[in-house]
Amino acid sequence: MAATPPNPAAATPRRKVSRHRGEGQWAAGHFTPLNANEQTKKDDDGLNVRTRIETIYSKRGFDSIDPGDLRGRMRWWGLYTQRKQGIDGGKTAVLEPEELDDSYFMLRVRIDGGALTTAQLRVIGEISQEFARGTADITDRQNVQYHWIRIEDVPEIWNRLEGVGLSTVTACGDTPRVMIGSPVAGIAEDEIIDGTPALEEMKRRVLNNPAYSNLPRKFKTAISGSPVLDVVHEINDVAFVGVEHPEHGPGFDLWVGGGLSTNPKLGVRLGAWVPIEDVPDVYEGVISIFRDYGYRRLRNRARLKFLVADWGAEKFRQVLEDEYLERKLTDGPAPADPTSRWRDHIGVHRQKDGRYYVGFAPRVGRVDGTILTKVADLAEAHGSGRVRTTVEQKMIVLDVEEGQVDSLVESLEALDLTARPSTFRRGTMACTGIEFCKLAIVETKARGASLIDELERRLPEFDEPLTINLNGCPNACARIQTADIGLKGQLVLNDRGEQVEGYQVHLGGALGLEPGFGRKVRGLKVTAEELPDYVERVLTRYQAEREDGER
Ligand code: SF4
Repeated sequence: MAATPPNPAAATPRRKVSRHRGEGQWAAGHFTPLNANEQTKKDDDGLNVRTRIETIYSKRGFDSIDPGDLRGRMRWWGLYTQRKQGIDGGKTAVLEPEELDDSYFMLRVRIDGGALTTAQLRVIGEISQEFARGTADITDRQNVQYHWIRIEDVPEIWNRLEGVGLSTVTACGDTPRVMIGSPVAGIAEDEIIDGTPALEEMKRRVLNNPAYSNLPRKFKTAISGSPVLDVVHEINDVAFVGVEHPEHGPGFDLWVGGGLSTNPKLGVRLGAWVPIEDVPDVYEGVISIFRDYGYRRLRNRARLKFLVADWGAEKFRQVLEDEYLERKLTDGPAPADPTSRWRDHIGVHRQKDGRYYVGFAPRVGRVDGTILTKVADLAEAHGSGRVRTTVEQKMIVLDVEEGQVDSLVESLEALDLTARPSTFRRGTMACTGIEFCKLAIVETKARGASLIDELERRLPEFDEPLTINLNGCPNACARIQTADIGLKGQLVLNDRGEQVEGYQVHLGGALGLEPGFGRKVRGLKVTAEELPDYVERVLTRYQAEREDGER
């Protein structure tokens, strides 16, 4: 397989060097960094920051951290500084003076495929209680995110996580991020193909590997053989989607170039069918194309989607085949439409081995260390000790015998983790927001939770599948563009002309059946206070005026 050496300083250009700076692509010989981020990555591999954290920063404290590490390389090990508490959040009065600083971190634990054992979940819960003031959010990429982490505690946290086979490696940064997998891989009765062996091999090849630790930007991966299409494959940099080939049998349809944030784009199919044993090679080919040909001049053009948009599917496939795989791929069919409008596996479902899995819904992904420890206890008492996280900020307990299902459902209910959620609890997601995120403009988690409660009270009969996604800023961490009702946090003017927290509204986005981005209705903004009234009006009118079958 062709590959540009990972260290640009040591690399020998394979191609003629352009006289123009172009887009900073290594494959065109542009190894001189064109911005500060590229310079930081060239100065030192982000993976190397771990040694400094273990030997220097955790011992000497926050002030000893090199600024280049603090603002950049810490991310290669899942660490971001969190929002300074007391600013804008109105919490100053309840915090002690020593807490009014920004020396705490968010720490992201990668949970590839959302797959956890109860031993792992218990450790996640214990770390939350001991080092993260109880915080532990389930993210929309199957990760767990802690807040309030002190640099002094990070080595011990890593010890504990790694002791049960978990890691924070490249959970953030310009790297291969967590690999999303079907949370019911290997067990679902309707599964087309189990992608787990390919996912494990992809991890083995690229994680903690300097050949893939300096990408132009983040690189998101998804693989699923579920006919529910449960990994948001449309918005990943690379995705493998289970299909049945008429001659060759089950395998994966290859998608590239999806992504939200600036200039959101849905991924495109390359028209190639990939047997499971070839998935890791193809994956390595695609990530290598991104490393070598990806744009590095401007951060906001550095995602794979821009290269795919410029090249088109045909050229991308040809480069992948000719330069990286050195063989042709087999043509294949597109995935069928999803078999369900909900893609989240909530509720009780039969497994192929006759046992059951039970999906349940916290509110907007918010749980805590105590709850997670209790979920681990329940999963052990009722199942075989396997738990999953989903891309909807939900969770699943696997391998429950029929006679244990009711008891598990009731026990979860007692923890306010319902397997029979309302449409609103089931379909609402929220990003981190102003509570902890430095980029946030508005509150999201608490607002999302109160919106759920309010809508449940006002519209108790509403049972259509529906997604409501809240972001705290113009970024897309909660996928607002793909929700029926997407709410992008910003400051807006209220009736009295005062600037208050509110949202720009996007309507009608979807993934799965008829995927597309929601329309930003020009000028349509709501204050946070008006939000329940607004959503209630939209839904009531939708129910009154929709045509037959209209979503
Ligand atoms: Fe932070 Fe904005 Fe992402 Fe929300 S969408 S987590 S506010 S960056």
